Amino acid sequence: MVEITFLKAGYCTHPEAMVLPGSSWKSMVFPALFALIDHPMGLILFDTGYSERFYQETQHLPQKLYAWLTPVYLEPQESAIYQLKLLGIQPKDIKYIIISHFHADHIGGLKDFPKAEFICFQSGYNAIKNKQGLSALKAGFLAGLMPENFEDLVIFVENSNKIKLPNNFAPFDQGFDLFGDGRLIAIELPGHAVGQLGLYLTDNSGQQYFLIADACWLSRAYQELIYPQRIADLLFADKRAYRQTLKKINQLYRNNPDLKIVPSHSSIKD
Ligand SMILES: [Zn+2]
Repeated sequence: MVEITFLKAGYCTHPEAMVLPGSSWKSMVFPALFALIDHPMGLILFDTGYSERFYQETQHLPQKLYAWLTPVYLEPQESAIYQLKLLGIQPKDIKYIIISHFHADHIGGLKDFPKAEFICFQSGYNAIKNKQGLSALKAGFLAGLMPENFEDLVIFVENSNKIKLPNNFAPFDQGFDLFGDGRLIAIELPGHAVGQLGLYLTDNSGQQYFLIADACWLSRAYQELIYPQRIADLLFADKRAYRQTLKKINQLYRNNPDLKIVPSHSSIKD
């Protein structure tokens, strides 16, 4: 069986005009979603949202700039570890964490799950692993959020079974079948970050989901093909790839209306 539950660990704020050109500069809330996936291989997380470690890791310059640019709001009881405990899940019960990319709002809780192995694109990890100081900051990466033994525990997606995607997933044509059962398929969504991982999942009822991480921030962006404000390009690893990826998701949305497409910062109810 495969079941998915969406949860949220904190949020940050950004001016609305950054994501919807032409709108106001008032602040807009961006929840940091993560997902709990119950799979025959065990309990799996897709990202973790923020954790309180974000505050510790951004106390000093230059990291402090990160907290100024994206003010973060997180109550202790909102962190992934706390919310999972409320569901009766202990940290050691999480077997895998699929990492979409290495921004702080996606990897904030990695250190909280001592038995988890990590699944990500090697290209995504290589792009950040040696970054320090300002170059880390520019990549939205806080090295202090990474478990020290990460390299012993990581499974790179590129080593799993590469498959051709079904026709209803056009224009995406290939992915990686993470556990060989066709239920969890990693698809590369480059642009926002190098080697960003999207997850195509089929649950027990046959409902299909595509978790697209930060390929766009709002559901409206892929539905209506709205590119963010030019100034947001500064945040992206590759602005051209960002636009190509968003355009492909928009085409997929139009070809496949039953698919639930979930950006990481949309409202859970969207
Ligand atoms: Zn991001």
